[in-house]
Amino acid sequence: MTQQIEHDVLVIGAGIAGLSVALRLADRARVAILAKGPLTEGSSLYAQGGIAAVLGTSDSVEAHVNDTLVAGAGLCDETAVRFTVERGPECIRWLIDLEVPFTREPGTDSESGYHLTREGGHSHRRIIHAADATGRASATTLERHVRNHDNIDIFENHIAVDLITSEKLGLPDQRCLGAYVLDRDSGRVKVFAAGTTVLATGGASKVYLYTSNPDVSTGDGMAMAWRAGCSVANMEFVQFHPTCLYHPAAKSFLVSEAVRGEGGMLLLPDGQRFMPRFDERAELAPRDIVARAIDYEMKRLGLDCVQLDISHKPAEFIKSRFPTIYGRCLEFGFDMTRAPLPVVPAAHYTCGGVVTDLAGKTDIDGLYAIGETACTGLHGANRLASNSILECLVFAAAASEAIKAQLPETRLAAKLPAWDESWVTDSDEEVVVSHNWDELRRAMWDYVGIERDEKGLKHALNEFERMKKDYKKNMYLNDLSPRYNKDLKIALEVTTLLTNAEITAEVSLFRTESRAAQFRLDYPNSDDENWFCNVVVQLVDGEMKLRKVPVEEYIMTKAECQALGYYDSVSGAQPDTWAEG
Ligand SMILES: Cc1cc2nc3c(=O)[nH]c(=O)nc-3n(C[C@H](O)[C@H](O)[C@H](O)COP(=O)(O)OP(=O)(O)OC[C@H]3O[C@@H](n4cnc5c(N)ncnc54)[C@H](O)[C@@H]3O)c2cc1C
Repeated sequence: MTQQIEHDVLVIGAGIAGLSVALRLADRARVAILAKGPLTEGSSLYAQGGIAAVLGTSDSVEAHVNDTLVAGAGLCDETAVRFTVERGPECIRWLIDLEVPFTREPGTDSESGYHLTREGGHSHRRIIHAADATGRASATTLERHVRNHDNIDIFENHIAVDLITSEKLGLPDQRCLGAYVLDRDSGRVKVFAAGTTVLATGGASKVYLYTSNPDVSTGDGMAMAWRAGCSVANMEFVQFHPTCLYHPAAKSFLVSEAVRGEGGMLLLPDGQRFMPRFDERAELAPRDIVARAIDYEMKRLGLDCVQLDISHKPAEFIKSRFPTIYGRCLEFGFDMTRAPLPVVPAAHYTCGGVVTDLAGKTDIDGLYAIGETACTGLHGANRLASNSILECLVFAAAASEAIKAQLPETRLAAKLPAWDESWVTDSDEEVVVSHNWDELRRAMWDYVGIERDEKGLKHALNEFERMKKDYKKNMYLNDLSPRYNKDLKIALEVTTLLTNAEITAEVSLFRTESRAAQFRLDYPNSDDENWFCNVVVQLVDGEMKLRKVPVEEYIMTKAECQALGYYDSVSGAQPDTWAEG
């Protein structure tokens, strides 16, 4: 007999987005919050830079809006940008009231006495931060409040595997009724029934071989919403970070752009500096140009990584300027005061996601999406540094208001059916699931990565098609034990990653131009005439339908952006400040 667990609201994901919405709802609703592993494990925990908000006395909403629109290379929704920016300061005050230990600096350009830093693409100092561990400080503070709230039930080690919708059950009026959730401790799939479900599962960067994101970032929310029939947009825009430490045990460790900002040079194995060949700004070129140059050299020479060298600077300077990076690299056996660090570019942020309105509501009643899982229109074709946690906070607040307003009319579904487990246990031949996982992530890296072209994208799509067929027919779990079944977890994640991989490749192929976070070798320029639009995909009768959705208003012309001094022909990034979010 499958257990049915009932709540007013089911929050899937416990990063800053999920924790915030749960906490804001809990005064009025009974909330369940799920996490794949320990409560806060997710990208939020690793965010270093900070949170962008208009807090400085010389800053303005207009300036933050403009910077965001420029970074988004014309594809942001100005209404969503304005909505987010205007609500930023209030959300920061909420975090301050919860006692997030932001770094203080009396006498700075901020009303509140908090230190504000400046990051790439921002025209003003507006990044509030807790030293170089803002994500950890915010997530663990939220966690403390969530753990202490009587109205919130926490389910760690619980993986949502599918949404339950009335359509799937053959009921009228499409609505989300809850989710099927794998309890990793017992190995059982439980039924969670809820009046409202919120997807807060983070990004999908784990679909790539190299990523700055933790293992949980497999884009589960996007895949679940997609299967349920929601619109998903802008998935071609994946932001790559140029320098992640290359070491098997340091899979998600970022080496800050500030290292290049302070004179770090990128070298080939023979010690030759290569960036000047690609851009006159050399290592100080925008993120996407540096990432592309590294990728090009790695492919040209068949390298596993390149070197980032700052050892020519005094050791004391390196240790005091980069204490966290120095310490962490030393743990992996690299002393950056003496020798270069091995680095690779890595997938960092999924700009696209599940399409929502300004309250975080998706196409399906009773289903919301917030945080990196969502596509609210804020980021357009590229994310402005430190706007992502801001988006988590603002849309958690907006969604909670909308959900609370609906609570009196929201009813729980009666008895929901149990999950059909047969697809993972009935198979003819053995395919070790972890092989699919590696194969898929390498194909994404090689063909749907930093540089793309038609031939590679078509090749990747054929590979995904083959994997899907093999997988459906032959997938077999070596491990059939119920508890902590790693094979089952990987099997579920490969299905999700395949969905996200296919969507990303299809849309990248469809958009025959280069713009911001998408670079097409065969179409190296942006093409406003044909591609000044968002690409929205939806599953209709089992088939992927793609459609162009024009951007409401053309906010800034390229010339206007250039006049402001921010616009890079493709990236839209501003190269002259050196910190990241
Ligand atoms: C190294 C790094 C540095 C960054 N620095 C900054 C920065 O300085 N400023 C900034 O604004 N942004 C930064 N970002 C981006 C930002 O951290 C993320 O976009 C943001 O934190 C995402 O928050 P989230 O709540 O949407 O998702 P996450 O924090 O990723 O949380 C996702 C949650 O969903 C859960 N989950 C996933 N799938 C399931 C499932 N199927 N069932 C149950 N639970 C599930 C996970 O367990 C996790 O709890 C950085 C990102 C990285 C990786």
